Amino acid sequence: MKLMRLGEIGYEEPAVMLDDGRIIDASTEFGDYNEAFLSCSGLEALQSWIESGCPGGIEKKGDYRIGAPIARPSKIICVGQNYADHAREFGAEVPPEPVIFMKATTAYNGPFDQVEIPPGATKLDYEVELAVVMGMTAKRISQAEARSHIAGYSVFCDYSERDYQKQRAGQWVKGKSSDTFAPLGPLFVTPDELNDPQSLRLWSKVNGELRQNGWTGDMLFHVDYVVSYISQFMTLLPGDIIATGTPGGVGMGMNPPKFLEAGDLVELGIEGIGEIKQRIVAS
Ligand code: ZN
Repeated sequence: MKLMRLGEIGYEEPAVMLDDGRIIDASTEFGDYNEAFLSCSGLEALQSWIESGCPGGIEKKGDYRIGAPIARPSKIICVGQNYADHAREFGAEVPPEPVIFMKATTAYNGPFDQVEIPPGATKLDYEVELAVVMGMTAKRISQAEARSHIAGYSVFCDYSERDYQKQRAGQWVKGKSSDTFAPLGPLFVTPDELNDPQSLRLWSKVNGELRQNGWTGDMLFHVDYVVSYISQFMTLLPGDIIATGTPGGVGMGMNPPKFLEAGDLVELGIEGIGEIKQRIVAS
């Protein structure tokens, strides 16, 4: 299944994209795609609703904003340096175990919304990432249990202000958490839509120039490992998002570094899931 949420910020309503590309409003049947939906077998109910022809669902036509495909999660957890080429361009060794950090959930953003440069910031950067959407509560689960706890996958950009991330005292969280720094979408696809989450091309472009061109098979720590690993340290809830790291090619790694400026257009995509894009604006 391909899940979407449509509507203005804060008023998004659930919808589905059918195999023929039609988009059907699901809001008459389902409140929202959120923790409660996933906890109460919402995906199974949605599947049955689609199989019975989406009774009561109205086809969406015309212009509408596409929001993030799942309601604001309890957590956005990111894996740092999960591709060897990115770890190197970051000036780091390949880590012996996953580096994890969090992004404020207030950074959460729609897939085509503008991204704001914080006042005075000069080192805004992009990172295309495969996002995992959790489907079940996961507390100290094994790798073998990981897949059954995943609801689906989406495209994520881990926007980062490198000075805030690296030069300001403390953790990376400052450089990762500004409003609009966490766009997700356009779809959240269930695992049956993808052959293998570790065999997807992912890429990013800035103003049409290809910057990142990676493959999820190159992750140092694969999805199952990462989900199990994070669940040893914190309980993952349905709807939580795990951003699994970015391949090489970010602006910081270029010589000289090339950071984003107001007016730039950032496009990001993952094979089999979709494409998202954001215009960079001054705040
Ligand atoms: Zn990242």
